[in-house]
Amino acid sequence: MFYPRTCMACGNTLFHNEEVVCTSCLLHLPRTGFHKIKDNPVAKVFWGRVNLESAAALYYYRKGGKVQHLIHQMKYSGHKEIGIFLGEFYGANLKKSQYFETVETVIPIPLHKNKLKKRGFNQAEMFARGIAATMDIEIDTDTVYRDVETSTQTKKSRYKRWENVSDIFKLRDSDRLSEKHVLVVDDVITTGSTMEACVNTLQKIPGIRISVVSIGFPVH
Ligand SMILES: [Zn+2]
Repeated sequence: MFYPRTCMACGNTLFHNEEVVCTSCLLHLPRTGFHKIKDNPVAKVFWGRVNLESAAALYYYRKGGKVQHLIHQMKYSGHKEIGIFLGEFYGANLKKSQYFETVETVIPIPLHKNKLKKRGFNQAEMFARGIAATMDIEIDTDTVYRDVETSTQTKKSRYKRWENVSDIFKLRDSDRLSEKHVLVVDDVITTGSTMEACVNTLQKIPGIRISVVSIGFPVH
């Protein structure tokens, strides 16, 4: 595969031994370290809403920052390799975390098929693929699917957003996930309402344990 030889975060030219994100950015991008802390801010987003094993995010996300730039390059400019690269990087961290080491299956938050057609790929799936590869576990893109296409979320209140997503996910052949520890992944966790809806649906599966991670977690 051919990648443009510039860093997707800062735009500087990559050295021969570098791929996707340069060494300097990898060192300086704002990692949260949440995978080592049980009651971290991502976990707290879901307190009183859904019961999770563990929750974390790779980076803090600021408006106009490099992490936002990376996610935008992935989502809107078709740079799938960013998701895979960050997933591989994060997977190596999660594998060493006592909270995530028992994860058996990675599940990307599904896009509705119309949106998938429009965008060409699911950015969460790219991140999931990278994580699954370095953790040496399977990825599941079939069991949970998006049944309803939701309208844009940005200008709605939290309740409206929840109402908008509360019943959008469905399950098929869900027996394969019973008794498993699954990791649901998305690009960004903000209000957590989409993730909450997906987790609620998955929790209908007997004995399932659910953890969640994202690439970015916004700093306010
Ligand atoms: Zn860079």
